[in-house]
Amino acid sequence: MIKTDVLIIGAGPVGLFTVHQLGIIGLKSEVVDNLDKIGGQCIELYPDKPIYDIPAIPECTGETLTKNLLEQIKPFKTNFHLNERVQEVSKEKDGWKIKTNKNKNFLAPNIIIAGGVGSFEPRKFQVENSEKFENKGIFYSVKDKNFFKDKKICIFGGGDSALDWAIEFSKIAKVTLIHRRKEFRGAEHSVKLIEQLEKENKLEIKTPFQLDSIEGKDKINAIGLKNEQGKTERITTDYVLGFFGLIMKLGPIAEWGLNLEKKTIPVNTENFQTNKEGIFAIGDICTYPGKLKLILSGFHEGALAARACFKLARPNENYRFEFTTTSKNMQERLGVKKSD
Ligand SMILES: Cc1cc2nc3c(=O)[nH]c(=O)nc-3n(C[C@H](O)[C@H](O)[C@H](O)COP(=O)(O)OP(=O)(O)OC[C@H]3O[C@@H](n4cnc5c(N)ncnc54)[C@H](O)[C@@H]3O)c2cc1C
Repeated sequence: MIKTDVLIIGAGPVGLFTVHQLGIIGLKSEVVDNLDKIGGQCIELYPDKPIYDIPAIPECTGETLTKNLLEQIKPFKTNFHLNERVQEVSKEKDGWKIKTNKNKNFLAPNIIIAGGVGSFEPRKFQVENSEKFENKGIFYSVKDKNFFKDKKICIFGGGDSALDWAIEFSKIAKVTLIHRRKEFRGAEHSVKLIEQLEKENKLEIKTPFQLDSIEGKDKINAIGLKNEQGKTERITTDYVLGFFGLIMKLGPIAEWGLNLEKKTIPVNTENFQTNKEGIFAIGDICTYPGKLKLILSGFHEGALAARACFKLARPNENYRFEFTTTSKNMQERLGVKKSD
């Protein structure tokens, strides 16, 4: 059981800045995110696109914003629990118990939900047995490239992820790239490179085909492909990788007894608390009259929710408003001033 002052659900920009706001007032937080990386929509959906409305930063990409937010919270040495979805939230006598889908447990007096549009989940194969082989023979992300070294792998998908991984794996494995359409929709230079690699026999392309069946008992031996004209093929393979993009699901958040309004969580604008004491919602996932789904609004919401968390985390202390410019305590926490 990991004990902390605040459990933050979501490592998007709003969750990240809230770590800072909690940190400067002396509260410890842990962050859980379902994705394998930090940054939420900024990293998953538009890492290279410029953002023009972050206060005092005339222009920065989703990736730079995430890097800067991480730099800003460095002093707090926060633990990130990635690839884990918060599954269950229940009230215990000494706080909220939070359980992830990997059976990790947290106990905290406060939860801040900064879950954006819900958890990002990979779009999956809809073929019999595909669930049974998930994370054994079928994968939707790559954690360790070397796991696939010298193996036969079938990569499905027509976008950038599928093409990039096909190019990468063609250096260390026997790759077949399969797509349901004849044309790929990835970047032009990747499509050209894929065609070049096929000419050089460094990978094989099969289009237009979809996965139709999976053969094997404990491990995959072969797969069946089919196209709209009814043409079929059988390929022996060790592993299958699917890159069909992500879908956003509100997911388990809907089951925690919180009031919901069109897949968002109503909060009050005084401290962004939900209908449950000690559970706050900020960023894209919260709603209130006038809500703007902008990063800058989320930063403000995080600042207020953080102060409200103080009450439950330090019931015997009084919260005192301070400026970072002049507060010795805050500067010590930020590591910019040495204690006497
Ligand atoms: C193309 C595009 C361009 C944009 N441009 C701008 C712009 O110019 N300016 C601007 O201000 N905004 C812009 N936005 C909107 C901005 O990205 C969002 O307002 C912002 O990302 C919201 O941040 P967040 O931290 O609330 O949520 P998110 O960034 O969505 O992060 C939420 C995180 O929570 C995780 N999560 C959810 N549920 C769970 C769970 N149960 N367990 C574990 N993890 C969970 C998700 O995996 C996700 O990583 C843009 C959005 C898009 C799509």
